[in-house]
Amino acid sequence: MALPKIVVLGAGYGGLMTTVGLQKELNYQEAEVTLVNQNPYHYVTTKLHEPAAGTLDPEYARVEIASVLKQDKVKFVQDRVIKVDPENKEVHLADGEPLKYDYLVFGLGSAPETFGIKGLLENAFFIRNLNGVRLIREHIEYMFAKYNTLKEDRDDLLTIVVGGAGFTGIEYVGELVDRIPELCREFDIPREKVRLINVEAAPTVLPGFDKELVDYAVKYLEERGVEFRINTPIEECTPEGVVLKGGEKIDSATVVWTGGVRGNPLLEEAGIETARGRVKVDEYLRAPGYEDFFVVGDSSLIFNEEERPYPPTAQMATQQGQHLAKNLTALIRGGSMQPFKFDLKGTLASLGRGSAIGIAFGKKLFGTKASILKRINDWRWYYLIGGLPLMFKKAKF
Ligand code: FAD
Ligand code: NAD
Repeated sequence: MALPKIVVLGAGYGGLMTTVGLQKELNYQEAEVTLVNQNPYHYVTTKLHEPAAGTLDPEYARVEIASVLKQDKVKFVQDRVIKVDPENKEVHLADGEPLKYDYLVFGLGSAPETFGIKGLLENAFFIRNLNGVRLIREHIEYMFAKYNTLKEDRDDLLTIVVGGAGFTGIEYVGELVDRIPELCREFDIPREKVRLINVEAAPTVLPGFDKELVDYAVKYLEERGVEFRINTPIEECTPEGVVLKGGEKIDSATVVWTGGVRGNPLLEEAGIETARGRVKVDEYLRAPGYEDFFVVGDSSLIFNEEERPYPPTAQMATQQGQHLAKNLTALIRGGSMQPFKFDLKGTLASLGRGSAIGIAFGKKLFGTKASILKRINDWRWYYLIGGLPLMFKKAKF
């Protein structure tokens, strides 16, 4: 009898955790598990703001997929998914033959939410993947290098605008605060010439988060030269910079958009019902109307007890992956699935190398203590996918 085919799309937090879980749970020859990812490596999305600023070597945010898979239990296909076809139970790839499945795990992450803002896709940078963040780091360095070679005063070359002061925006600004003094030394530029502006549409930075922690973060970052523009949506992004609501222009050669995410467009294109691209999954993480189509990570949508959507996080994706691996194993063995319940352990946001804010174990944390806990939490991910050897190789203070 043919083995049941499980195809996992995406080696991010959700997909890789599902795959690593399956290779642990399943015995040999119980199922044919295939993982598809566009790169031969997994990038640690939660660390991308660091190489994007130049404070971390990208190598530390990259894990070779082959190094965490057992090749006799999981087949890895490096290709780009271009279409999912739930009616025919097929996945179409950019280069390879279509893949048939009995169970599909969709874990292709998110896409930037641009709200249709004119010029963003063309002119802004996005913290999305490893090559994208290498480009941001190189671009900033190039702008600094160019500044002193020109005769005219081009302050826009030294002005960095970060659009959106959610967690990604704040964590990125925190890294830049550490990086800018180094860049100034390297390129002989006075620190006061550099502007770092974080623009936020909502009336506060980190909207919805604990006020005391937000105040701490704002004070910490302002003291290190960050200019916050709250209550001020970006309405357009041009090759020269950004246009704010009301018409004010900020000339900037570097605009980094951190204004939010939506689900992967392949789901909408497959005719699956979505809200901002995300699929409201059932208690077993299945897309509505499908017994064999599971969605994990940023493309899934789950509501809390107050009927408010949980934000898409690595914490959520990891727990989903762990749970789904067990459920798929049960299904294959003729058993029944257990409903998924998210267990929010806390939220921590870094403010550069030495500081962070957050809530963990029901307590508010600030400064060094929060920063250490954030690092330990980062290391946990390496441990989950590759055990102690990977953790010791990649963990970095
Ligand atoms: P991802 O981890 O993004 O993985 C998606 C994978 O799919 C990638 O490997 C990608 O290459 C692959 N892929 C995409 N499209 C295709 C395709 N067409 N074909 C083949 N492969 C494809 N969350 C937290 O809980 N804690 C944090 O501290 C935290 N920090 C963050 C910091 C930053 C800078 C950012 C940007 C996010 C952070 N998050 C954090 C959010 C967290 O990173 C995401 O929620 C999480 O990565 C989602 O996991 P995922 O598996 O859905 O997608
Ligand atoms: P987000 O949606 O959390 O924040 C986006 C911010 O951009 C919001 O504050 C929004 O008001 C603002 N914005 C939207 N339109 C704007 C405009 N036109 N002009 C200016 N500002 C505008 O998105 P994110 O920060 O990219 O985070 C994505 C997900 O990843 C979230 O679920 C977040 O919780 C998670 N994340 C978690 C961590 C962490 O736990 N440390 C870190 C990064 C991201």
